[in-house]
Amino acid sequence: MENERYKVLIVEDDKIDQMAYKRMIDTEKLPYEYTIAESVMEARSILGTQRFDIVITDYNLPDGTGLDVLGSIEKNTPAIFVTGTGDEEIAVKALKGGACDYLIKDPQHDHLKALPLTVQNAIKQKALKDMIERKQKNLEALFNAAPVGMLLLDENMMVKGVNDAFSKLSGNGHSSIIGHKICDALSCINSADNQKLRQDNHVCEVCPLVKTIKVVLDSEKPARKVEFQHTFEISGSETKLWLCMSVEPVVIDGRKHTVAAIEDITERKNAEQQLKETTEIKSQFVSTVSHELRTPLTCMKEAVGVIWDGAAGEVTDKQRHFLDIAKRNIDRLAVLINDVLDFQKLESGRMNLNMQLNDIGQVAKSVHDTMLLFAKKKGLDLSLELADNLPKAVFDSDKIVQVLINLISNAIKFTPEGGQVSVCVEYQCEELVIRIGDTGMGIPKEHLPKIFEQFYRVPRPGSEIPGTGLGLPIVNKIVALHSGRIEVESEVDRGSLFTVFLPLNLKSVPEVPQMETKQDSLLEGFLSSVTSTNKAN
Ligand code: ADP
Repeated sequence: MENERYKVLIVEDDKIDQMAYKRMIDTEKLPYEYTIAESVMEARSILGTQRFDIVITDYNLPDGTGLDVLGSIEKNTPAIFVTGTGDEEIAVKALKGGACDYLIKDPQHDHLKALPLTVQNAIKQKALKDMIERKQKNLEALFNAAPVGMLLLDENMMVKGVNDAFSKLSGNGHSSIIGHKICDALSCINSADNQKLRQDNHVCEVCPLVKTIKVVLDSEKPARKVEFQHTFEISGSETKLWLCMSVEPVVIDGRKHTVAAIEDITERKNAEQQLKETTEIKSQFVSTVSHELRTPLTCMKEAVGVIWDGAAGEVTDKQRHFLDIAKRNIDRLAVLINDVLDFQKLESGRMNLNMQLNDIGQVAKSVHDTMLLFAKKKGLDLSLELADNLPKAVFDSDKIVQVLINLISNAIKFTPEGGQVSVCVEYQCEELVIRIGDTGMGIPKEHLPKIFEQFYRVPRPGSEIPGTGLGLPIVNKIVALHSGRIEVESEVDRGSLFTVFLPLNLKSVPEVPQMETKQDSLLEGFLSSVTSTNKAN
């Protein structure tokens, strides 16, 4: 702006004064492109066709006063008023009439020395005012167009602003909200009960919306995402809504105000509630079905065992072959049911951990000894390596046994005859590090991110290896319950390495968050596994 030229309109009828302006502009080389008008009428006609950066007007003009000129100036053009000595009252009037500043005339024209600075200030002031107005307008636009309900309240809880979204939400028009106390403005069902309180200038005690705003106003601290239920009376009927509100303290014209953003979250809340109920029913269903399957399965297993043993009569080799198939599938079904029950318990947060001070070396050794038989049966070498410095640690021994069994049995399952499976336990950086490695078939890279998902099994065409797809999800959840983590590295046809990290200083047992949305797939996966297990031989 500093280097710019200003378009200036000088309204002055006195020729000597006009000369004084010209002299001042020329000698000081002021960057003004000026036009002179000698009367109100002339000024009006010039102002009607041209835009000026500033208007400087004398008070006494042949056909009126400088105040008349002010009345014809476009609202945004700054004006400087020039009055005679002793005319301060007129100067005040001029300021009230929209002038930015005034100069008191001096017979020697000394007042013009202040002209450049006064003009500069008036233009700067105007630019600032424009900017503030623009910002104000933008804020107002944001306020009005916000998709959530917006309220602006003053220090007396009087509504000063409301947007369409709030008006729609509360079922009230703008005019019945603005200018009213918040309690009256809301068509709240408690309004009638609290009429007395409101008359006494209290705020409604039962209304979380009003109470929250009041607290913010008094404390001058914001409130964020307060969720509550509010019953509005919309078109004569009660409408219960779930609302989420954030309130911000603000200062407007030196006074405390609050701005509240209110969102209708009824749909989300209802959906959450519905999901919770459905999840509960499904989880109940899965566990009931699993329990109910167990009993007949045990009976079947015993019956098949009795026949197999020959206790029910002689059994031919062919019959024994089919009995073997039946036995194998009964065992698979039993494993699946146990896995589903375990996973379901872990997922719903109903798995209680028995956290005790335990010796990981001992635990690993006992699992190793148990699994040795299976490894040998498959012609595999199963080794165990325990570091010397293993400290005792707090963990649920049964659950960590389950983790080790699942990982070692996978390693055995997915490693062909002649391969090696190794278990190694170390203590590093305040963590127990358990590594289960194998020289088996490995896991293709693209499947690695999915193997911890429930019922996910890497497709292995041509070599169908039985399993439920729940082993790793169970391992993952148990490890997470111990605040630990599990990592996997694998290379196809070279082997896999699963590493479990268990923190030693477990402060508290974290709750595993419920994965509610996964219940559907748990159910589907369970049912399809039951079906495919039954079909398989
Ligand atoms: P399951 O073993 O019952 O199929 P898991 O959840 O334990 O289910 O494992 C998921 C999948 O991850 C397995 O189907 C298998 O393809 C792959 N996997 C797990 N451990 C290994 C391993 N040690 N070597 C190769 N693949 C493995």
